[in-house]
Amino acid sequence: MTRTAYRFVPFTIKQDLAAEPTYSAFCVSGDEKECEQSSDEWLTPHPVEVWMREHTRETGHSRYRREFVDYAEVTQHDV
Ligand SMILES: [Zn+2]
Repeated sequence: MTRTAYRFVPFTIKQDLAAEPTYSAFCVSGDEKECEQSSDEWLTPHPVEVWMREHTRETGHSRYRREFVDYAEVTQHDV
């Protein structure tokens, strides 16, 4: 039986602050076909909530899929 020694390579994952995170929501109301209207992407969550309230008021739709998107960088450290 042979043994293989794996070298542990440490790395860190950090949010990439150079790329702004975005918030958005998609309406998923509907039975056979989802509505799929979108709030578009925003840099803060508030405009997305405003859009959802307005969309619900106009259509009666009440289910949304929300997305938060950010970017990450992985840094591998030399041992
Ligand atoms: Zn809708």
